[in-house]
Amino acid sequence: MHPPQPDITGSRPITMPIYQTSGFAFDDPAVFADALSRPDGAFAYGRYANPTVRALESAVADLEGGVAGIATGSGMGAVNCALLGLLGPGDHLVAQKSLYGGTAAMINELAERFGVSVTYVSGDDPDAFRAAVRSRTRVLYLETLSNPLNHVADLPGMCAAARELGVVSVVDNTYATPMLCRPIEHGADIVVHSTTKYMSGHTDVVGGLTVHADEELWRRVWRFSVELGATADPFASWLTLRGLQTLPLRMERHCANARHLATRLAAHPAVAEVHWPGLPGHPSYELAAKLLPDFGGVLAFDLAGGRAAGERFMKAVRLALLAPSLGGVETLVMHPATTSHRTLSAEELARHGIGEGTVRIAVGIEHPEDLWADLSQALTG
Ligand SMILES: *Cc1c(COP(=O)(O)O)cnc(C)c1O
Repeated sequence: MHPPQPDITGSRPITMPIYQTSGFAFDDPAVFADALSRPDGAFAYGRYANPTVRALESAVADLEGGVAGIATGSGMGAVNCALLGLLGPGDHLVAQKSLYGGTAAMINELAERFGVSVTYVSGDDPDAFRAAVRSRTRVLYLETLSNPLNHVADLPGMCAAARELGVVSVVDNTYATPMLCRPIEHGADIVVHSTTKYMSGHTDVVGGLTVHADEELWRRVWRFSVELGATADPFASWLTLRGLQTLPLRMERHCANARHLATRLAAHPAVAEVHWPGLPGHPSYELAAKLLPDFGGVLAFDLAGGRAAGERFMKAVRLALLAPSLGGVETLVMHPATTSHRTLSAEELARHGIGEGTVRIAVGIEHPEDLWADLSQALTG
């Protein structure tokens, strides 16, 4: 059966409709053929493009100051479209030392199975990057704010050096969001996002996105994303679009709550150190103040009592939930030494800057006094 489609001329929907269709019908075979060859032709097949997905891509490209975006089924989908779309066997990648775990694992795969060589440098050391570049260096990979210690990348310095040396810079801007940083304005070529986090913001979507400063690279990565099949789903894209409408409001509250908790934690006797770049004394404090209008909603702190104190704290929180991920309206806590980084030895943990008593908090948008009441009872309990 072919159900009739109502005529909606004369008015238009206020919100973006969900185009829940895998394909589109054509009147003209030439238009059909053209649609499959480029990302800006007519809509043809859902793996190539979809109007709801396109609305999300355009919205985020606009927020980031890019020419276009490619939405993917997850943040790792976006990371892989960028890396695999740009790198081939024998190529060289320069990456920042501390990276999101999934990205770090993927880079290991690239090195072990796909013949890509990798050099790690500090994200705020353009001279080290320059020294690492070789004739086959294709990509510089950075994160605006690193996990979990919040080191800030020197985007202007690093991206300018990459431009000068003909290396494509890719920046994961998941933690900062375009509310705190627009890497393309600092010279980045490609921005990647896990929209699972702040962009969608309500812990109900997995998604990702690449945003491009350059049209040729956008076409190249789009072609690869179509071949890889990393495509975003229209409903997930619609949820993300809905989340985006409140991104500025939520980010303001995430950052304000993080400041409130960071300040209180820093003064608490059970806490040895707080890692939030808005606090003087953080290694990235000065760079952060220069680059960012606010300092993000994720903070980490070291409990003076080490691993035992960390485990006790995790069991004692009530309002904050013990869970992975970040960027949602709920506050989530994690103890890296016994969860995300549990396989590492004490020395390896130290190399990542993670102590046995390090706790990560993805601060939500709850009332700050409710949050502090919960954390302080968990610290003393
Ligand atoms: C979560 C995350 C990713 C991966 O995103 P998924 O949506 O989980 O695939 C990549 N980078 C950063 C910084 C993240 O926090």
